[in-house]
Amino acid sequence: MLEKMEEFNFEKVIKEFETATKDVGRVQKETLQKILEENGEAEYLQKLGLNGRTDVESFKACVPLVTHKDLDPYIQRVADGDTSPILTGKPITTISLSSGTTQGKPKFVPFNEELVESTMQIYRTSFAFRDREFPIGNGKALQLIYGSKQFETKGGLTANTATTNIYRSSYFKNTMKAIRSECCSPDEVIFGPDFNQSVYCHLLCGLIYRDEIQSVSSTFVFSIVHAFRTFEQIWEELCTDIRDGVLNKRVTVPSIRTAMSKLLKPNPTLADLVYKKCSGLSNWYGLIPEIFPQTKYIYGIMTGSMEPYLKKLRHYAGELPLLSGDYGSSEGWIGANVNPTLPPESVTYAVLPDIGYFEFLPIMEKVENHGDRTEATFLYTESEPVGLTEVKVGNEYEVVVTNVAGLYRYRLGDMVKVVGFHNSTPELQFRCRRNLLLNINIDKNTEKDLQLAVEEAGKLLVDEKLEVVDFTSHVDLTEDPGHYVIFWELSREAGEEVLNECCNCLDRSFVDAGYIGARKVNAIGALELRIVRRGTFQKILDHYLGLGSAVSQFKTPRCVGLSNSVVLQILHSNVVKSYFSTAFA
Ligand code: AMP
Repeated sequence: MLEKMEEFNFEKVIKEFETATKDVGRVQKETLQKILEENGEAEYLQKLGLNGRTDVESFKACVPLVTHKDLDPYIQRVADGDTSPILTGKPITTISLSSGTTQGKPKFVPFNEELVESTMQIYRTSFAFRDREFPIGNGKALQLIYGSKQFETKGGLTANTATTNIYRSSYFKNTMKAIRSECCSPDEVIFGPDFNQSVYCHLLCGLIYRDEIQSVSSTFVFSIVHAFRTFEQIWEELCTDIRDGVLNKRVTVPSIRTAMSKLLKPNPTLADLVYKKCSGLSNWYGLIPEIFPQTKYIYGIMTGSMEPYLKKLRHYAGELPLLSGDYGSSEGWIGANVNPTLPPESVTYAVLPDIGYFEFLPIMEKVENHGDRTEATFLYTESEPVGLTEVKVGNEYEVVVTNVAGLYRYRLGDMVKVVGFHNSTPELQFRCRRNLLLNINIDKNTEKDLQLAVEEAGKLLVDEKLEVVDFTSHVDLTEDPGHYVIFWELSREAGEEVLNECCNCLDRSFVDAGYIGARKVNAIGALELRIVRRGTFQKILDHYLGLGSAVSQFKTPRCVGLSNSVVLQILHSNVVKSYFSTAFA
Protein backbone atom coordinates (compact mmCIF):
# COMPACT_ATOMS: atom_id res chain seq x y z
CA MET A 1 0.00 0.00 0.00
CA LEU A 2 2.82 2.36 0.83
CA GLU A 3 4.24 1.97 -2.65
CA LYS A 4 1.23 3.50 -4.27
CA MET A 5 1.53 6.74 -6.16
CA GLU A 6 -1.49 8.79 -5.37
CA GLU A 7 -2.98 11.56 -7.39
CA PHE A 8 -4.32 13.83 -4.71
CA ASN A 9 -7.52 15.64 -5.15
CA PHE A 10 -7.12 18.53 -2.77
CA GLU A 11 -10.75 19.53 -2.68
CA LYS A 12 -11.46 15.96 -1.58
CA VAL A 13 -8.76 16.16 1.12
CA ILE A 14 -10.34 19.36 2.46
CA LYS A 15 -13.80 17.83 2.32
CA GLU A 16 -12.64 14.77 4.28
CA PHE A 17 -11.09 17.01 6.90
CA GLU A 18 -14.23 19.15 7.15
CA THR A 19 -16.39 16.03 7.55
CA ALA A 20 -14.15 14.45 10.20
CA THR A 21 -14.01 17.68 12.21
CA LYS A 22 -17.77 18.19 12.20
CA ASP A 23 -18.49 15.16 14.35
CA VAL A 24 -15.41 14.94 16.51
CA GLY A 25 -17.05 13.04 19.37
CA ARG A 26 -18.07 10.16 17.13
CA VAL A 27 -14.77 10.10 15.23
CA GLN A 28 -12.79 9.99 18.47
CA LYS A 29 -14.86 7.08 19.81
CA GLU A 30 -14.35 5.16 16.58
CA THR A 31 -10.64 5.92 16.53
CA LEU A 32 -10.19 4.64 20.08
CA GLN A 33 -12.26 1.58 19.27
CA LYS A 34 -10.08 0.79 16.27
CA ILE A 35 -6.86 1.22 18.26
CA LEU A 36 -8.12 -1.03 21.07
CA GLU A 37 -9.49 -3.67 18.70
CA GLU A 38 -6.17 -3.90 16.88
CA ASN A 39 -4.21 -4.10 20.11
CA GLY A 40 -6.56 -5.96 22.44
CA GLU A 41 -4.03 -8.81 22.64
CA ALA A 42 -1.27 -6.57 23.94
CA GLU A 43 0.09 -7.65 27.30
CA TYR A 44 0.00 -4.06 28.56
CA LEU A 45 -3.75 -3.72 27.99
CA GLN A 46 -4.47 -7.27 29.18
CA LYS A 47 -2.66 -6.64 32.45
CA LEU A 48 -4.72 -3.54 33.05
CA GLY A 49 -7.87 -5.67 32.77
CA LEU A 50 -9.38 -4.07 29.70
CA ASN A 51 -10.56 -7.53 28.59
CA GLY A 52 -11.19 -6.56 25.00
CA ARG A 53 -13.45 -3.61 25.87
CA THR A 54 -13.08 -0.69 23.48
CA ASP A 55 -15.33 2.02 24.92
CA VAL A 56 -14.07 5.32 26.28
CA GLU A 57 -15.35 4.78 29.83
CA SER A 58 -13.66 1.39 30.33
CA PHE A 59 -10.50 2.69 28.71
CA LYS A 60 -10.32 5.63 31.11
CA ALA A 61 -11.21 3.48 34.11
CA CYS A 62 -8.57 0.79 33.44
CA VAL A 63 -5.67 2.58 31.77
CA PRO A 64 -3.64 5.09 33.78
CA LEU A 65 -2.01 8.25 32.50
CA VAL A 66 1.67 7.54 31.91
CA THR A 67 4.90 9.25 30.97
CA HIS A 68 7.69 7.85 28.86
CA LYS A 69 9.42 6.64 32.00
CA ASP A 70 6.47 4.37 32.87
CA LEU A 71 6.43 2.74 29.44
CA ASP A 72 10.18 2.54 29.05
CA PRO A 73 10.53 -1.03 30.48
CA TYR A 74 7.94 -2.27 27.94
CA ILE A 75 9.57 -0.40 25.05
CA GLN A 76 12.95 -1.71 26.14
CA ARG A 77 11.69 -5.31 25.93
CA VAL A 78 10.45 -4.63 22.41
CA ALA A 79 13.83 -3.13 21.52
CA ASP A 80 15.61 -6.11 23.03
CA GLY A 81 13.83 -8.43 20.62
CA ASP A 82 10.81 -9.77 22.52
CA THR A 83 8.30 -10.30 19.70
CA SER A 84 5.33 -11.21 21.87
CA PRO A 85 2.47 -8.69 21.78
CA ILE A 86 3.71 -6.34 24.48
CA LEU A 87 2.29 -2.95 23.64
CA THR A 88 0.69 -3.70 20.27
CA GLY A 89 -1.09 -6.62 18.65
CA LYS A 90 1.29 -6.73 15.71
CA PRO A 91 4.99 -6.75 16.59
CA ILE A 92 6.83 -3.44 16.44
CA THR A 93 9.73 -3.64 13.98
CA THR A 94 11.08 -0.11 14.09
CA ILE A 95 12.00 2.25 16.88
CA SER A 96 12.04 6.04 16.66
CA LEU A 97 14.44 8.16 18.62
CA SER A 98 12.82 11.31 19.94
CA SER A 99 15.06 14.36 20.01
CA GLY A 100 15.45 14.15 23.78
CA THR A 101 17.26 17.44 24.05
CA THR A 102 15.92 18.10 27.54
CA GLN A 103 16.93 14.76 29.05
CA GLY A 104 20.29 14.77 27.30
CA LYS A 105 19.70 11.52 25.45
CA PRO A 106 17.14 10.37 22.86
CA LYS A 107 14.18 8.30 24.05
CA PHE A 108 12.97 5.13 22.31
CA VAL A 109 9.43 5.34 20.91
CA PRO A 110 7.62 2.57 18.94
CA PHE A 111 7.08 3.29 15.26
CA ASN A 112 4.92 1.60 12.64
CA GLU A 113 3.53 2.04 9.12
CA GLU A 114 0.30 3.56 10.41
CA LEU A 115 2.32 6.48 11.76
CA VAL A 116 3.70 7.02 8.23
CA GLU A 117 0.12 6.96 6.98
CA SER A 118 -1.08 9.57 9.49
CA THR A 119 1.97 11.74 8.79
CA MET A 120 1.07 11.79 5.10
CA GLN A 121 -2.53 12.54 5.98
CA ILE A 122 -1.46 15.59 7.94
CA TYR A 123 0.97 16.70 5.20
CA ARG A 124 -1.76 16.43 2.58
CA THR A 125 -4.30 18.24 4.74
CA SER A 126 -2.15 21.25 5.54
CA PHE A 127 -0.86 21.37 1.97
CA ALA A 128 -4.43 21.44 0.61
CA PHE A 129 -5.25 24.46 2.77
CA ARG A 130 -1.89 26.08 2.07
CA ASP A 131 -2.17 25.65 -1.66
CA ARG A 132 -5.51 27.44 -1.73
CA GLU A 133 -3.87 30.58 -0.33
CA PHE A 134 -0.32 30.21 -1.62
CA PRO A 135 -0.40 28.08 -4.78
CA ILE A 136 2.90 26.68 -5.95
CA GLY A 137 3.72 25.61 -9.47
CA ASN A 138 5.32 22.40 -10.63
CA GLY A 139 8.87 22.27 -9.51
CA LYS A 140 11.02 21.24 -6.59
CA ALA A 141 11.57 22.12 -2.97
CA LEU A 142 14.82 22.99 -1.30
CA GLN A 143 14.14 20.74 1.66
CA LEU A 144 16.76 21.06 4.35
CA ILE A 145 16.16 17.60 5.75
CA TYR A 146 18.65 15.12 7.14
CA GLY A 147 18.49 11.47 8.10
CA SER A 148 20.02 10.31 11.34
CA LYS A 149 22.48 7.49 11.68
CA GLN A 150 20.57 4.25 11.61
CA PHE A 151 21.44 1.58 14.13
CA GLU A 152 20.10 -1.69 15.37
CA THR A 153 18.80 -2.23 18.87
CA LYS A 154 20.00 -5.20 20.91
CA GLY A 155 17.05 -7.18 19.54
CA GLY A 156 17.82 -6.27 15.93
CA LEU A 157 15.15 -3.60 15.42
CA THR A 158 15.99 -0.65 13.23
CA ALA A 159 16.32 2.57 15.21
CA ASN A 160 16.16 5.99 13.57
CA THR A 161 14.74 9.35 14.35
CA ALA A 162 11.03 9.48 13.44
CA THR A 163 11.73 11.97 10.66
CA THR A 164 14.32 9.59 9.17
CA ASN A 165 11.78 6.77 9.27
CA ILE A 166 9.40 9.05 7.39
CA TYR A 167 11.92 10.37 4.84
CA ARG A 168 13.00 6.83 4.01
CA SER A 169 9.50 5.67 3.14
CA SER A 170 8.46 5.62 -0.50
CA TYR A 171 5.09 6.91 0.59
CA PHE A 172 6.80 10.13 1.71
CA LYS A 173 8.51 10.56 -1.65
CA ASN A 174 5.29 9.97 -3.54
CA THR A 175 3.41 12.39 -1.33
CA MET A 176 6.08 15.03 -1.82
CA LYS A 177 5.79 14.62 -5.59
CA ALA A 178 2.02 14.85 -5.40
CA ILE A 179 2.19 18.05 -3.36
CA ARG A 180 4.78 19.44 -5.79
CA SER A 181 7.40 19.56 -3.05
CA GLU A 182 9.89 16.97 -4.23
CA CYS A 183 13.28 17.45 -2.58
CA CYS A 184 15.83 18.78 -5.06
CA SER A 185 18.67 16.81 -3.44
CA PRO A 186 19.35 13.12 -3.97
CA ASP A 187 18.91 10.62 -1.11
CA GLU A 188 22.67 10.32 -0.74
CA VAL A 189 22.68 13.94 0.46
CA ILE A 190 19.64 13.58 2.76
CA PHE A 191 21.01 10.43 4.37
CA GLY A 192 24.70 11.28 4.16
CA PRO A 193 26.82 10.28 7.16
CA ASP A 194 28.35 13.75 7.59
CA PHE A 195 25.91 16.53 8.36
CA ASN A 196 28.17 19.39 7.22
CA GLN A 197 28.74 17.78 3.84
CA SER A 198 24.99 17.30 3.47
CA VAL A 199 24.30 20.98 4.21
CA TYR A 200 26.85 21.95 1.57
CA CYS A 201 25.31 19.68 -1.05
CA HIS A 202 21.71 20.64 -0.23
CA LEU A 203 22.67 24.26 -0.92
CA LEU A 204 24.51 23.30 -4.08
CA CYS A 205 21.52 21.30 -5.35
CA GLY A 206 19.29 24.27 -4.57
CA LEU A 207 21.48 26.49 -6.74
CA ILE A 208 21.64 23.95 -9.56
CA TYR A 209 17.80 23.79 -9.60
CA ARG A 210 17.53 27.48 -8.80
CA ASP A 211 14.79 28.25 -11.33
CA GLU A 212 12.63 25.31 -10.25
CA ILE A 213 12.65 25.82 -6.49
CA GLN A 214 9.08 26.60 -5.41
CA SER A 215 9.51 26.44 -1.64
CA VAL A 216 12.24 26.27 0.98
CA SER A 217 11.34 23.96 3.84
CA SER A 218 12.43 21.77 6.73
CA THR A 219 10.69 20.02 9.60
CA PHE A 220 11.86 22.54 12.21
CA VAL A 221 13.11 25.89 10.87
CA PHE A 222 16.33 25.67 12.86
CA SER A 223 17.66 23.68 9.87
CA ILE A 224 16.80 26.46 7.42
CA VAL A 225 18.47 29.17 9.50
CA HIS A 226 21.48 26.95 10.10
CA ALA A 227 21.84 26.26 6.36
CA PHE A 228 21.70 29.91 5.35
CA ARG A 229 24.10 30.95 8.09
CA THR A 230 26.40 28.34 6.53
CA PHE A 231 25.66 29.76 3.08
CA GLU A 232 27.07 33.11 4.22
CA GLN A 233 30.38 31.36 4.87
CA ILE A 234 30.61 29.09 1.84
CA TRP A 235 28.80 30.85 -1.00
CA GLU A 236 31.97 31.58 -2.95
CA GLU A 237 33.00 27.95 -2.84
CA LEU A 238 29.55 26.96 -4.10
CA CYS A 239 29.96 29.39 -7.01
CA THR A 240 33.35 27.89 -7.85
CA ASP A 241 31.87 24.38 -7.91
CA ILE A 242 29.12 25.52 -10.29
CA ARG A 243 31.55 27.39 -12.51
CA ASP A 244 33.95 24.43 -12.87
CA GLY A 245 31.44 21.61 -12.53
CA VAL A 246 33.70 20.06 -9.90
CA LEU A 247 32.58 19.28 -6.36
CA ASN A 248 34.58 20.87 -3.53
CA LYS A 249 37.11 18.62 -1.83
CA ARG A 250 35.38 19.16 1.51
CA VAL A 251 32.80 16.62 0.32
CA THR A 252 34.58 13.34 0.87
CA VAL A 253 31.77 10.77 1.18
CA PRO A 254 32.04 8.68 -2.04
CA SER A 255 28.29 8.05 -2.40
CA ILE A 256 27.54 11.78 -2.14
CA ARG A 257 30.31 12.60 -4.64
CA THR A 258 28.95 10.07 -7.12
CA ALA A 259 25.37 11.33 -6.75
CA MET A 260 26.42 14.97 -7.03
CA SER A 261 28.60 14.36 -10.08
CA LYS A 262 25.45 13.38 -11.97
CA LEU A 263 23.93 16.81 -11.29
CA LEU A 264 26.90 19.13 -11.34
CA LYS A 265 27.99 20.36 -14.79
CA PRO A 266 30.16 23.41 -15.53
CA ASN A 267 27.85 26.40 -15.69
CA PRO A 268 29.79 29.70 -15.62
CA THR A 269 26.65 31.70 -16.44
CA LEU A 270 24.84 30.41 -13.37
CA ALA A 271 27.94 30.86 -11.23
CA ASP A 272 28.31 34.51 -12.34
CA LEU A 273 24.64 35.17 -11.72
CA VAL A 274 24.68 33.74 -8.19
CA TYR A 275 27.93 35.58 -7.47
CA LYS A 276 26.46 38.86 -8.63
CA LYS A 277 23.24 38.37 -6.66
CA CYS A 278 25.05 37.50 -3.45
CA SER A 279 27.51 40.39 -3.81
CA GLY A 280 24.62 42.78 -4.29
CA LEU A 281 22.85 41.92 -1.04
CA SER A 282 23.03 44.12 2.00
CA ASN A 283 23.88 42.03 5.06
CA TRP A 284 22.19 39.05 3.34
CA TYR A 285 18.72 40.58 3.64
CA GLY A 286 16.30 38.81 1.26
CA LEU A 287 18.87 36.13 0.39
CA ILE A 288 16.31 33.38 -0.25
CA PRO A 289 14.10 35.12 -2.87
CA GLU A 290 17.18 36.61 -4.48
CA ILE A 291 18.83 33.29 -5.16
CA PHE A 292 15.65 31.22 -5.57
CA PRO A 293 13.41 33.60 -7.50
CA GLN A 294 10.45 31.21 -7.97
CA THR A 295 10.07 30.50 -4.24
CA LYS A 296 6.53 31.14 -3.04
CA TYR A 297 7.07 30.63 0.70
CA ILE A 298 9.25 29.26 3.48
CA TYR A 299 7.74 26.32 5.32
CA GLY A 300 8.61 24.53 8.57
CA ILE A 301 7.70 24.45 12.26
CA MET A 302 8.22 27.97 13.57
CA THR A 303 6.53 27.88 16.98
CA GLY A 304 7.76 26.83 20.42
CA SER A 305 11.51 26.48 20.64
CA MET A 306 11.79 27.59 16.99
CA GLU A 307 10.51 31.12 17.66
CA PRO A 308 13.93 32.51 18.52
CA TYR A 309 15.05 31.76 14.94
CA LEU A 310 12.17 33.67 13.31
CA LYS A 311 13.94 37.00 13.26
CA LYS A 312 16.86 35.62 11.31
CA LEU A 313 14.54 33.65 9.06
CA ARG A 314 12.56 36.80 8.25
CA HIS A 315 15.80 38.52 7.38
CA TYR A 316 16.75 35.82 4.88
CA ALA A 317 13.17 35.58 3.56
CA GLY A 318 12.72 39.26 2.78
CA GLU A 319 9.12 39.68 1.64
CA LEU A 320 8.40 35.94 1.27
CA PRO A 321 5.62 34.52 3.46
CA LEU A 322 6.69 32.37 6.41
CA LEU A 323 4.24 29.50 6.86
CA SER A 324 4.47 27.34 9.94
CA GLY A 325 4.38 23.55 9.62
CA ASP A 326 2.15 21.20 11.61
CA TYR A 327 2.24 20.02 15.22
CA GLY A 328 3.40 16.55 16.09
CA SER A 329 6.07 14.46 17.70
CA SER A 330 7.85 11.15 17.41
CA GLU A 331 4.84 9.80 19.30
CA GLY A 332 2.52 10.83 16.46
CA TRP A 333 0.98 13.89 14.84
CA ILE A 334 -1.62 16.02 16.54
CA GLY A 335 -2.76 18.99 14.50
CA ALA A 336 -2.48 20.61 11.10
CA ASN A 337 -1.99 24.26 10.28
CA VAL A 338 -5.16 24.87 8.29
CA ASN A 339 -5.00 28.67 8.63
CA PRO A 340 -1.79 29.31 6.71
CA THR A 341 -2.31 33.06 6.46
CA LEU A 342 -1.81 33.53 10.20
CA PRO A 343 1.61 34.93 11.12
CA PRO A 344 3.92 32.29 12.63
CA GLU A 345 3.66 33.73 16.15
CA SER A 346 -0.10 33.17 16.25
CA VAL A 347 -0.40 30.02 14.18
CA THR A 348 -2.92 27.42 15.37
CA TYR A 349 -3.10 23.66 14.89
CA ALA A 350 -6.46 21.98 14.25
CA VAL A 351 -6.48 18.51 15.82
CA LEU A 352 -7.10 15.68 13.36
CA PRO A 353 -9.63 13.55 15.26
CA ASP A 354 -9.00 10.35 13.29
CA ILE A 355 -5.24 9.98 13.75
CA GLY A 356 -5.20 9.24 17.47
CA TYR A 357 -7.27 9.47 20.62
CA PHE A 358 -6.56 12.75 22.37
CA GLU A 359 -7.10 13.89 25.93
CA PHE A 360 -6.18 17.16 27.57
CA LEU A 361 -4.95 17.55 31.09
CA PRO A 362 -6.10 20.94 32.38
CA ILE A 363 -3.30 23.09 33.71
CA MET A 364 -4.78 24.89 36.63
CA GLU A 365 -2.31 27.02 38.47
CA LYS A 366 1.29 27.06 39.44
CA VAL A 367 2.17 25.57 42.82
CA GLU A 368 5.38 25.69 44.74
CA ASN A 369 7.76 22.84 44.58
CA HIS A 370 10.95 22.46 46.49
CA GLY A 371 11.89 19.11 45.02
CA ASP A 372 14.90 18.46 42.87
CA ARG A 373 15.99 21.99 42.14
CA THR A 374 18.58 21.25 39.55
CA GLU A 375 16.28 19.53 37.08
CA ALA A 376 13.17 20.61 35.25
CA THR A 377 10.21 19.80 37.49
CA PHE A 378 6.46 19.63 36.92
CA LEU A 379 5.00 22.51 38.81
CA TYR A 380 1.33 22.69 38.02
CA THR A 381 -1.73 21.31 39.72
CA GLU A 382 -4.07 19.34 37.59
CA SER A 383 -7.45 17.72 37.53
CA GLU A 384 -8.84 14.88 35.39
CA PRO A 385 -8.09 14.98 31.67
CA VAL A 386 -10.93 15.99 29.36
CA GLY A 387 -11.77 14.75 25.87
CA LEU A 388 -11.32 16.55 22.57
CA THR A 389 -14.89 17.87 22.65
CA GLU A 390 -14.68 19.08 26.23
CA VAL A 391 -11.82 21.54 26.08
CA LYS A 392 -12.56 25.22 26.68
CA VAL A 393 -11.36 28.18 24.68
CA GLY A 394 -8.78 30.18 26.62
CA ASN A 395 -7.67 27.25 28.80
CA GLU A 396 -4.28 25.58 28.80
CA TYR A 397 -3.71 21.85 28.78
CA GLU A 398 -1.07 19.18 28.57
CA VAL A 399 -1.64 16.91 25.56
CA VAL A 400 -2.25 13.21 26.29
CA VAL A 401 -1.97 10.84 23.33
CA THR A 402 -3.22 7.34 22.60
CA ASN A 403 -1.85 6.18 19.27
CA VAL A 404 -1.75 3.28 16.87
CA ALA A 405 1.77 2.30 17.88
CA GLY A 406 1.38 1.19 21.48
CA LEU A 407 1.14 4.41 23.48
CA TYR A 408 -1.92 4.64 25.72
CA ARG A 409 -2.82 7.81 27.65
CA TYR A 410 0.73 9.01 27.18
CA ARG A 411 1.58 12.46 28.53
CA LEU A 412 3.42 14.27 25.83
CA GLY A 413 4.82 16.98 28.10
CA ASP A 414 3.66 19.81 25.82
CA MET A 415 1.51 22.69 27.00
CA VAL A 416 -1.05 24.00 24.53
CA LYS A 417 -3.74 26.65 24.67
CA VAL A 418 -7.14 26.20 23.06
CA VAL A 419 -7.80 29.35 21.03
CA GLY A 420 -10.87 28.34 19.04
CA PHE A 421 -12.55 25.57 17.10
CA HIS A 422 -12.51 24.47 13.49
CA ASN A 423 -15.96 22.94 13.19
CA SER A 424 -15.94 20.95 16.43
CA THR A 425 -12.23 20.19 16.66
CA PRO A 426 -10.09 22.44 18.84
CA GLU A 427 -7.47 24.76 17.40
CA LEU A 428 -4.40 24.71 19.59
CA GLN A 429 -1.59 27.11 20.06
CA PHE A 430 1.69 25.60 21.18
CA ARG A 431 2.82 27.20 24.45
CA CYS A 432 5.95 25.38 25.59
CA ARG A 433 7.30 22.17 26.99
CA ARG A 434 5.58 21.60 30.28
CA ASN A 435 8.75 20.98 32.23
CA LEU A 436 9.57 24.02 34.20
CA LEU A 437 12.94 25.34 33.21
CA LEU A 438 14.25 27.73 35.76
CA ASN A 439 13.41 27.28 39.41
CA ILE A 440 15.43 28.06 42.51
CA ASN A 441 12.83 28.64 45.22
CA ILE A 442 9.52 30.44 44.68
CA ASP A 443 10.35 31.46 41.11
CA LYS A 444 8.99 29.63 38.08
CA ASN A 445 10.13 30.48 34.61
CA THR A 446 9.35 28.46 31.52
CA GLU A 447 11.06 28.12 28.18
CA LYS A 448 8.71 30.83 26.92
CA ASP A 449 9.65 33.24 29.75
CA LEU A 450 13.31 32.69 28.94
CA GLN A 451 12.69 33.28 25.25
CA LEU A 452 10.90 36.56 25.96
CA ALA A 453 13.68 37.75 28.26
CA VAL A 454 16.32 36.96 25.64
CA GLU A 455 14.24 38.71 22.98
CA GLU A 456 13.95 41.81 25.15
CA ALA A 457 17.66 41.97 25.98
CA GLY A 458 18.53 41.15 22.36
CA LYS A 459 16.91 44.42 21.29
CA LEU A 460 19.81 46.26 22.90
CA LEU A 461 22.13 44.67 20.36
CA VAL A 462 20.28 45.88 17.28
CA ASP A 463 22.05 49.25 17.08
CA GLU A 464 25.38 47.46 17.30
CA LYS A 465 24.33 45.22 14.37
CA LEU A 466 24.86 42.23 16.62
CA GLU A 467 22.62 39.26 17.16
CA VAL A 468 22.20 36.37 19.55
CA VAL A 469 23.01 33.30 17.44
CA ASP A 470 21.67 30.90 20.07
CA PHE A 471 21.16 30.69 23.81
CA THR A 472 20.51 28.42 26.74
CA SER A 473 20.36 28.61 30.53
CA HIS A 474 21.39 26.85 33.72
CA VAL A 475 20.56 27.14 37.40
CA ASP A 476 23.78 27.57 39.36
CA LEU A 477 23.43 26.34 42.93
CA THR A 478 27.10 26.01 43.73
CA GLU A 479 26.87 29.11 45.90
CA ASP A 480 24.11 30.27 48.16
CA PRO A 481 21.86 31.89 47.01
CA GLY A 482 21.61 30.18 43.66
CA HIS A 483 21.31 32.24 40.51
CA TYR A 484 20.26 31.98 36.88
CA VAL A 485 22.99 31.70 34.26
CA ILE A 486 22.17 32.60 30.67
CA PHE A 487 24.60 31.52 27.95
CA TRP A 488 24.72 33.57 24.75
CA GLU A 489 26.58 33.00 21.54
CA LEU A 490 26.84 36.27 19.62
CA SER A 491 27.40 36.90 15.93
CA ARG A 492 30.57 38.82 16.79
CA GLU A 493 32.33 40.45 19.70
CA ALA A 494 30.37 43.02 21.69
CA GLY A 495 31.43 45.86 23.98
CA GLU A 496 31.45 45.62 27.78
CA GLU A 497 28.91 48.35 28.24
CA VAL A 498 26.21 46.90 26.05
CA LEU A 499 26.66 43.42 27.54
CA ASN A 500 26.32 44.81 31.06
CA GLU A 501 23.09 46.42 29.94
CA CYS A 502 21.92 43.19 28.35
CA CYS A 503 22.64 41.32 31.56
CA ASN A 504 20.59 43.78 33.62
CA CYS A 505 17.82 43.70 31.05
CA LEU A 506 17.67 39.88 31.17
CA ASP A 507 17.37 39.98 34.95
CA ARG A 508 14.56 42.57 34.80
CA SER A 509 12.73 40.76 32.00
CA PHE A 510 11.79 37.72 34.07
CA VAL A 511 8.50 39.18 35.22
CA ASP A 512 7.38 36.20 37.34
CA ALA A 513 6.39 37.61 40.75
CA GLY A 514 8.24 34.82 42.56
CA TYR A 515 11.45 35.68 40.76
CA ILE A 516 11.20 39.42 41.33
CA GLY A 517 10.33 38.93 45.00
CA ALA A 518 13.21 36.54 45.56
CA ARG A 519 15.64 38.77 43.71
CA LYS A 520 14.66 41.81 45.80
CA VAL A 521 15.48 40.06 49.07
CA ASN A 522 18.49 38.31 47.56
CA ALA A 523 16.95 34.84 47.95
CA ILE A 524 18.09 34.45 44.35
CA GLY A 525 21.48 35.86 43.42
CA ALA A 526 22.29 38.23 40.56
CA LEU A 527 21.64 36.82 37.11
CA GLU A 528 24.80 35.96 35.23
CA LEU A 529 25.25 36.37 31.49
CA ARG A 530 28.01 34.18 30.10
CA ILE A 531 29.20 34.81 26.55
CA VAL A 532 30.46 31.71 24.78
CA ARG A 533 32.79 31.42 21.77
CA ARG A 534 31.46 31.36 18.22
CA GLY A 535 30.71 27.77 17.27
CA THR A 536 29.81 26.60 20.78
CA PHE A 537 26.23 25.77 19.81
CA GLN A 538 27.50 23.94 16.74
CA LYS A 539 29.53 21.77 19.17
CA ILE A 540 26.36 21.10 21.15
CA LEU A 541 24.57 20.13 17.94
CA ASP A 542 27.46 17.85 16.99
CA HIS A 543 27.26 16.22 20.41
CA TYR A 544 23.56 15.39 19.91
CA LEU A 545 24.21 14.14 16.37
CA GLY A 546 26.80 11.80 17.84
CA LEU A 547 24.12 10.38 20.14
CA GLY A 548 21.93 9.50 17.17
CA SER A 549 19.80 12.66 16.93
CA ALA A 550 19.13 14.19 13.54
CA VAL A 551 19.35 17.85 12.67
CA SER A 552 15.84 17.59 11.28
CA GLN A 553 14.47 17.20 14.79
CA PHE A 554 17.07 19.16 16.70
CA LYS A 555 15.95 21.63 19.34
CA THR A 556 18.60 23.47 21.32
CA PRO A 557 18.06 22.56 24.99
CA ARG A 558 16.99 25.82 26.59
CA CYS A 559 17.99 24.78 30.09
CA VAL A 560 20.91 22.53 30.85
CA GLY A 561 20.74 20.64 34.13
CA LEU A 562 23.59 18.97 35.98
CA SER A 563 22.63 15.57 34.56
CA ASN A 564 23.38 16.86 31.07
CA SER A 565 27.04 17.00 31.99
CA VAL A 566 28.56 16.85 28.50
CA VAL A 567 26.60 19.85 27.24
CA LEU A 568 27.32 21.72 30.46
CA GLN A 569 31.00 20.97 30.00
CA ILE A 570 30.91 22.24 26.40
CA LEU A 571 29.29 25.45 27.61
CA HIS A 572 31.64 25.97 30.56
CA SER A 573 34.77 25.38 28.56
CA ASN A 574 33.76 27.92 25.93
CA VAL A 575 32.90 30.87 28.15
CA VAL A 576 34.88 33.94 27.14
CA LYS A 577 33.34 36.51 29.46
CA SER A 578 30.74 36.72 32.16
CA TYR A 579 28.66 39.57 33.56
CA PHE A 580 26.60 39.84 36.75
CA SER A 581 23.41 41.86 36.86
CA THR A 582 23.20 44.96 39.01
CA ALA A 583 19.49 45.39 38.24
CA PHE A 584 18.41 44.70 41.82
CA ALA A 585 21.49 46.11 43.57
P1 AMP B 1 10.56 14.97 18.99
O1 AMP B 1 10.71 14.68 20.46
O2 AMP B 1 11.85 15.17 18.33
O3 AMP B 1 9.65 14.04 18.33
O4 AMP B 1 9.87 16.41 18.93
C1 AMP B 1 8.52 16.56 19.29
C2 AMP B 1 8.35 17.81 20.10
O5 AMP B 1 8.65 18.95 19.28
C3 AMP B 1 6.92 18.02 20.53
O6 AMP B 1 6.58 17.29 21.68
C4 AMP B 1 6.93 19.52 20.76
O7 AMP B 1 7.50 19.84 22.00
C5 AMP B 1 7.83 20.02 19.64
N1 AMP B 1 6.99 20.42 18.49
C6 AMP B 1 6.52 19.65 17.50
N2 AMP B 1 5.74 20.35 16.65
C7 AMP B 1 5.72 21.61 17.12
C8 AMP B 1 5.10 22.81 16.70
N3 AMP B 1 4.36 22.88 15.61
N4 AMP B 1 5.32 23.91 17.45
C9 AMP B 1 6.10 23.86 18.54
N5 AMP B 1 6.71 22.77 18.98
C10 AMP B 1 6.52 21.65 18.29
